[in-house]
Amino acid sequence: KVLVGTKVGEDHVNYILAYNMLTGIRVAVSRTTAKLDRELTDNDFIAKHKLAFDISGNELTPSAKYDFKFKDYAPWVFRHLRQLFRLDPADYLISLTSKYIVSELGSPGKSGSFFYFSRDYRFIIKTIHHSEHKFLLRILKEYYNHVKDNPNTLISQFYGLHRVKLPYGRKIHFIIMNNLFPPHRDIHQTFDLKGSTIGRDYDERKLKDNKHATMKDLNWLRRDKYISLGPRKRDQFMKQLETDVKLLERLNIMDYSLLIGIHDLRKGNTEHIRDSTLTVFTPGQQILERTPSKLERDRRLSLRRAFSTANPASLEQVIDVLRSDEYPGRKSFTFYADDGGFRATDEHDGPLYEIYYLGVIDCLTNYSFAKKVETFWKGLSHSRERLSAIPPFEYGERFYKFILSIVKTPGQGGSGQVRNQIS
Ligand code: ATP
Ligand code: CA
Ligand code: CA
Repeated sequence: KVLVGTKVGEDHVNYILAYNMLTGIRVAVSRTTAKLDRELTDNDFIAKHKLAFDISGNELTPSAKYDFKFKDYAPWVFRHLRQLFRLDPADYLISLTSKYIVSELGSPGKSGSFFYFSRDYRFIIKTIHHSEHKFLLRILKEYYNHVKDNPNTLISQFYGLHRVKLPYGRKIHFIIMNNLFPPHRDIHQTFDLKGSTIGRDYDERKLKDNKHATMKDLNWLRRDKYISLGPRKRDQFMKQLETDVKLLERLNIMDYSLLIGIHDLRKGNTEHIRDSTLTVFTPGQQILERTPSKLERDRRLSLRRAFSTANPASLEQVIDVLRSDEYPGRKSFTFYADDGGFRATDEHDGPLYEIYYLGVIDCLTNYSFAKKVETFWKGLSHSRERLSAIPPFEYGERFYKFILSIVKTPGQGGSGQVRNQIS
C-alpha cells in the first residue's frame, strides 16, 4: 500500500505544472552542469536563462509534452551552492526528474505555497510568491557568502530558483531545497517553532486523527519539552543558530521558524519493521510506505538511465552513488551527521535516544513586504489571526532566546527534566 502526500499522476490537476517544472529543471540543470566549472562573477548573481519548450523541440530544447516557458535564475550560483552542499550533480537530476517522482502536499501553510517532494523524498519544491522570488535574488550574494563561510548553516539549503509560465497562464516561481526529514526514519513528533505564543497552538484535539501534524510553540511548552544536548553539541548548535539569526536580522527577514522533527530510537520504526516496509512521513501528515528493495531498485534504474544523459565527467560519481546506500555528502554536515540528523546527547556528550531533524525554514519573508501585507489586512478587517509584522531584529532576538531556553544539557540548569538517558 502506497500512501504518498498526493501522488501527482497524469490525472492530477497539477500534473502539467509538475511535468513542466521537472522537464525545465532537467534541461536547464544539465546544460549548466555539462560545462567546465569556473569561478563565479558578479553577473552570475543576476543571470537569467529563458527556455521555450514545445511539442516539436528545437536545437536548444528537446521536445516536451506541453508548450511552456521556463526560466532558470542564477544557474551558476546555484551550481556552486549545490557543490557547497555536496550534492552530486547526477544524483540531483535523477532524484528530481525521474518520471513519476512527485507527490504534492497541498498547501500546509497559510501562504498558499505548494510543496512537492522528489520521489526519494530528499528534495522539496516549494512554489513561492513573486515577492519572495525577487527577495531571494536580491539577497542571493549574501546567502551564497554565508553558506561559503558557514557550511553547517541551519538555514534552508537552496539548490535552484526557477519559473514556469504556461501558455495564457500564470507565472509560477519555485525553489528547490532540502527536505529536513529523512526518508528512512519515522518522525514521531514535529514542531514548527517561532518563539511567539500568539496563534502558535495546534489544536490538541485534532492530534488524535493526525498524530503526525506539525505542532507549534504552545504545544511544545505544554509538553515541557527540551532539546537535549551535551556541552559540545549545545555549543555547536547555539553558535550556528546565532550566526544564522544575525544574517536573517541583517537581511531584514522575519517570520521564519525552527522546524524540528523528533525520532525516538526506542520507538524506532516499530509499526513497520514487521513487514520490512520503509515508512516515510511527509511533513504534515501523510505516510509513504515502500519496501527498501523497491526504493533501491528504482534508484538503480534511474541511475542506469542517467548513464546515457549524464556528462562523462560525472560517470565516476554516478558509480559511487550506485554503490552506496547512503546519500553521500549529507554526513559531512554537523547537523545532518547522525543518521541524517543531530542526535541528542547527555552531559558527557554521550548519545541519548532521540534524533533531531532540524533547520530554520521559511526564510524569504522580507519585513517591508510583511508590513505592507499587514497594513492591507488591517485595513480590510480586524482579524487577529493574521501575520503580525515584527521588526527583524526583535523577531530574531525573540526567536533566538526562545530556542536558547529550550536547549538544555541533561542534569544541568536545575530543571530536573532529565530523561532519555542511557544508564
Ligand atoms: P506560512 O508562510 O503560512 O508559514 P509557508 O507556505 O511559507 O507557510 P513553510 O512555513 O515554509 O510554508 O512550511 C510549512 C510546513 O511545511 C512546515 O511547517 C513543515 O511542516 C513543512 N516544511 C517546510 N519546509 C520544509 C523542509 N525544508 N523540510 C521538511 N519539511 C518542511
Ligand atoms: Ca512558516
Ligand atoms: Ca511563508
